[in-house]
Amino acid sequence: MQLNPRIAGQRPNPMFRIGALVHGRADVIHLEFGEPDQPTPTHIVEAGLRSLRDERQGYGPGNGIASLRAAIAARVARVDRFAASPDQVVVTPGGTGALMAALLTLCVPGDEVLVPDPAWAGYDAMLAVAGTRMVRYPLLAEAGWQPDLDALEAVITPRARVLLINAPSNPGGAVYPRATIARLLEIARRHDLWLLSDECYDEIVFAGEHVSPAALEADERDGRVLTVGTCSKSYAMTGWRVGWVVAPPAVAPGIALTTAAQVNNLPLLAQRAAEAALTGPQECVRAMVASYRERRDLALAALRAHGVAAHTPAGAFYLLVPVAELLPPAPAGRPFDGVAFAEELIAARGIAVAPGAAFGERAADYMRVSLASSAADLCAGLDGLIAFARDYALS
Ligand code: PLP
Repeated sequence: MQLNPRIAGQRPNPMFRIGALVHGRADVIHLEFGEPDQPTPTHIVEAGLRSLRDERQGYGPGNGIASLRAAIAARVARVDRFAASPDQVVVTPGGTGALMAALLTLCVPGDEVLVPDPAWAGYDAMLAVAGTRMVRYPLLAEAGWQPDLDALEAVITPRARVLLINAPSNPGGAVYPRATIARLLEIARRHDLWLLSDECYDEIVFAGEHVSPAALEADERDGRVLTVGTCSKSYAMTGWRVGWVVAPPAVAPGIALTTAAQVNNLPLLAQRAAEAALTGPQECVRAMVASYRERRDLALAALRAHGVAAHTPAGAFYLLVPVAELLPPAPAGRPFDGVAFAEELIAARGIAVAPGAAFGERAADYMRVSLASSAADLCAGLDGLIAFARDYALS
């Protein structure tokens, strides 16, 4: 009896190992995951509870309830500044389900998907499940983790089917200027690629402006942009599992089919809560973004106090700490092993961070810390991380 070799052969991302080591441990400072530390706002929880109490939790439409799809269409008009009809919206189990459904809808096995290096670790398994090949294009640390567009063009082959972009970005925290988004769209057009835009952090912007490729596509309407969003980050709703794809009209039914084939429909109570999030007061989003910005500045100041310069994230809620440069040059043949470092940091100091290697080779010398952690954890965690790195050098 054989397993699908694409699944059996997939090496788990190091983030799973880190997660397994520290999950649920109160004796560890948790800076590893992108998990907002605030609770889901009360009016959103209440909407979920009301639904649970007053409505039958039965089967529902595979593309999501109509009122939520309308709320998502209104939300992308407000935040991402492009017009879409509710029929172009498919409600999915988080941004994760949205990306998976998009890949299954757009690709056949063997297709190439262009993925940033570094990028969110979740993409690895999705591409494996879809049977696609990951082709990396570089984000440049020295340019604040902006994409190298010439290098991107150089890796595009005739098998390339999807150009995946993510801004504001995880882990680099880059917000792409309008000109960069326009060029990415132009590259997608010239090479006849789908542009899959992961905008899960679209509201978490500290500097500059989030530009959605779908907003720039409006003039030409050639229907190649799919926009992925989520309630997880803006509303501290990670466990509620509500996200969406906004797709061209010809693509949306395929997204609905691939979503329904996996989950049939999302729980009604989660959809009602998402609707309350999107249509209710938005002050909670502004407050969360302000608190992430404060913590970003606090974290950068803590690093500066240790003489460590890190890139200032313009969006999302992560900070890449350049750890390898704190160590003396490695002996020949012994490159820095960031995953081992992160595991030892847990064992020695009880501090969990995400090794940059989990996101791609270009972040291998970094540790990612989540700014969605309490200020006290952030400061204690960064102090411990730097001290450990300096000790590590001596050991
Ligand atoms: N995309 C990026 C870049 C992410 O960082 C994450 C979560 O960390 C997701 C998508 C998926 O989020 P969710 O499935 O909770 O909506």
